[in-house]
Amino acid sequence: MPRHATKIVATLGPASSDPALLEAMIRAGVNVVRLNFSHGKAQDHIDRATLVREASVRAGREVAIMADLQGPKIRVGKFAEGKVMLEPGAAFVLDASRTELGDLQGVGLDYKELPRDVKAGDVLLLNDGLIVLTVDAVKGEQVHTTVKLGGELSNNKGINKQGGGLTAPALTAKDMEDIKTAMSLKADYVAVSFPKNATDMEMARQLCNVAGAEHGHKADLIAKIERAEAIPRLEEILRASDGIMVARGDLAVEVGNAAVPALQKRMIKLAKEHDKVVITATQMMESMITNPVPTRAEVSDVANAVLDGTDAVMLSAETAAGKFPLETVQEMAKICAAAESAEDPALDADFKGQTFSRIDQSIAMGALFTAHHLGAKAIVALTESGSTALWMSRRRVHVPIYALTTKLSSQRKMALYRNVRPLLMDTSADRDTALEQAERHLKKRGIVSTGDVYAITCGEPMGSPGGTNMLKICRVE
Ligand code: PGA
Ligand code: MN
Repeated sequence: MPRHATKIVATLGPASSDPALLEAMIRAGVNVVRLNFSHGKAQDHIDRATLVREASVRAGREVAIMADLQGPKIRVGKFAEGKVMLEPGAAFVLDASRTELGDLQGVGLDYKELPRDVKAGDVLLLNDGLIVLTVDAVKGEQVHTTVKLGGELSNNKGINKQGGGLTAPALTAKDMEDIKTAMSLKADYVAVSFPKNATDMEMARQLCNVAGAEHGHKADLIAKIERAEAIPRLEEILRASDGIMVARGDLAVEVGNAAVPALQKRMIKLAKEHDKVVITATQMMESMITNPVPTRAEVSDVANAVLDGTDAVMLSAETAAGKFPLETVQEMAKICAAAESAEDPALDADFKGQTFSRIDQSIAMGALFTAHHLGAKAIVALTESGSTALWMSRRRVHVPIYALTTKLSSQRKMALYRNVRPLLMDTSADRDTALEQAERHLKKRGIVSTGDVYAITCGEPMGSPGGTNMLKICRVE
């Protein structure tokens, strides 16, 4: 199996909760496991997290756990028959005050604010844009619409407004409870759904920090970019987050499908410029939910996300509920590796016009530059927090980065960073011993052997975060 530098995020679900299968998926290339809090109860997530930690020990590879909060999914209520068939041209009423079950004339709303958020002329997209309604009038609690694009509408389907503008806050009461669960199971990442601005992310950070403190745990935050309003505020959202997700499902409904590919490229570029991580998500291998092979278009989509520079590509229903979860991961790993090897890294051009004022960051860039030009076998970073490895991994080189850390939480976090292979090492207190230990570790794992050149960075005093101040180029004796 070729090694892939781009990381794979796989969503756990009924199709992937068997311990042996999960272990096989991790061996096949899963680096981050996503727990989707839109489904299941707290205890289900706690049980699944235990499964993940056990499977990763058996597979001999640490993975990160990402808790994905449901957020204010704006939904219709339920129907008497479970669903209706909407015909184009028909009138249909979305009614926040309706208590009886829905029918062909209309349906209740889970989201009671909708009548305040829309006006005549607005376009509403239901069920991921498969059904389109235009608003004719708002009468009190009722939104009167005409069906533009018909189809089957079933219980609790999502509603989006074209162009954005629904006022629901990003964190619901359920999300706040789920954050506590996520911290109790020590989720390495928390993904926040539908943030509109930096404040939403700061609020989530505070809740995570408070809930995490009880467990001596700190999570990193991923902002899911899936609202039209988030686009002009990308930079402030990035600054308030540790990373973003290009959440193409909801985003496409709000901004239109055709706008998404260009936005994906812009978001990936911007995230990397801000030293943040980025995940590309949704429908990447969609047809593999039912088929054992992907379509050519899906292969191209995954490869192009890799070429755009994404840290990770994500699987949703493919691994949570699909028929071929293991095969999907195997295929995805192959596509990533092939796309990476076709890439010609332009590191020198990347550095043009850039200046670095921090010592630790300058050392990281120096290591990258030197290793790339020497054709070194590896870049090795002795890192506490993982920030050296993060900086190095924001730029494309073919030399793999081995991040040696004494902290399990750092090792897991780094599982998401592109081209970084995080390893746990008990570094010694003094520098020379630590460097010797590191080389022994790399030799034992077959990463370097006699004659190989590698670059290694570390900091003095050892073991204090943010102290990287030394670069050494070594040839293995
Ligand atoms: P979801 O987010 O699958 O949780 O809705 C991803 C997306 O919207 O693309
Ligand atoms: Mn979404």
